[in-house]
Amino acid sequence: MPPRRRHELPPTAGLPLKLADLRPGRATLADDVAAQLDTPPLALTCSGTAALLIALAALRELKPVCRRVVMPAYTCPLVPLAVHQAGLESVLCDLRPGHYDLDPHALRAACDERTLAILPTHLAGRVADVDDALAVANNVGAYVIEDAAQALGARRDGSSVGVAGDLGFFSLAAGKGLSIYEGGLLAARDPELRERLEHTAKRIAPFKPGWELRRSAELLGYAALYRPHGLRIAYGNPLRNALRRGDPVAAVGDDFSLPLPLHAVGRWRQAVGAHAAVRLRGFIEQCTARAQHWLPRLRAIPGVSVLDDPAGAQGTWPFFMLLLPDQRRRDAALEQLWQAGLGVSRLFINALPDYGYLHGIVPAADVPNARDFAARSLTIGNSPWLAEADMDAICGVLETVA
Ligand SMILES: *Cc1c(COP(=O)(O)O)cnc(C)c1O
Repeated sequence: MPPRRRHELPPTAGLPLKLADLRPGRATLADDVAAQLDTPPLALTCSGTAALLIALAALRELKPVCRRVVMPAYTCPLVPLAVHQAGLESVLCDLRPGHYDLDPHALRAACDERTLAILPTHLAGRVADVDDALAVANNVGAYVIEDAAQALGARRDGSSVGVAGDLGFFSLAAGKGLSIYEGGLLAARDPELRERLEHTAKRIAPFKPGWELRRSAELLGYAALYRPHGLRIAYGNPLRNALRRGDPVAAVGDDFSLPLPLHAVGRWRQAVGAHAAVRLRGFIEQCTARAQHWLPRLRAIPGVSVLDDPAGAQGTWPFFMLLLPDQRRRDAALEQLWQAGLGVSRLFINALPDYGYLHGIVPAADVPNARDFAARSLTIGNSPWLAEADMDAICGVLETVA
């Protein structure tokens, strides 16, 4: 095992907050991000999941007979939880082999006239195939909701992800880039639909002082601890404790429960986000530059593949998503790297049917490619603190095991 260090690298590149970001200011976060990304108006929500819940609640009213929501079988467990809380049914679609995209054949088999929405997902900051989802959705009369929770700032053919579908959402959760500890942004192309979403949000997600107080305290903690020394306390130690207990789901924070909180975001957190958002573009450019620097090195390791974007797309690089040849070698690499403080981790531990707590919420499904993806993947955080020596240590282990 590489030597234990005093500091801890994060598993994803979040935009570090500065003390000055915490001053009061104008609550313009959603408008500022929309202006920066050149999107239609965005609505601020209390989480990415809340954005999805609000979207589903609004679509449900438009098409009450359609109750099925099609999602990748490997995605954030919050997605089927939101579908469940919205009173709808999750339908799992397998991935393309060794890829994050929805498998085109499985997608066609999963969709019919009962489908309310399809959720192509920009996993790991990579840009997903939204066109195929739109083609299928058009055929069956469904909506497309782009899950861009992990891809704020990603672009395709010059425009932001999240706005090619009917709706899209981004996450502002801790560690997902720009963060107000928990937050989300909801996009919709059609002005009439935007108005509906606004009404739905007012109805189901009113301001709740208790939640805002809690999130404000958490945001202060995040601002203080999101740096290599603080992360040992806030991230590394709990991770290692969970792994020692043999609980990888808790280790990566995949352990969610219902009900999902729904409330509005207060003015102070909006102002903090708006201050930090000024640095968003530069931050994404730096992440991309670091990724371009490291990618050739990672790609040169025999047996390792690194997920990338399709032609014409520029994803963001919060972390690198690697596939190893098989689970044995992936596990061997994690054995040496997961607890080493180097920002190496896993994304979601399981394919959705394999989370015990989702039984009864997602159907049992035969999704071999999603299971294979869960079994062979690992992630390397692309944070500003990842140094040459860290990458040497990581690549050394990968070269030995792969
Ligand atoms: C994190 C995440 C979500 C949920 O976003 P929150 O802001 O954490 O509620 C949804 N989908 C994907 C793919 C995610 O990674």
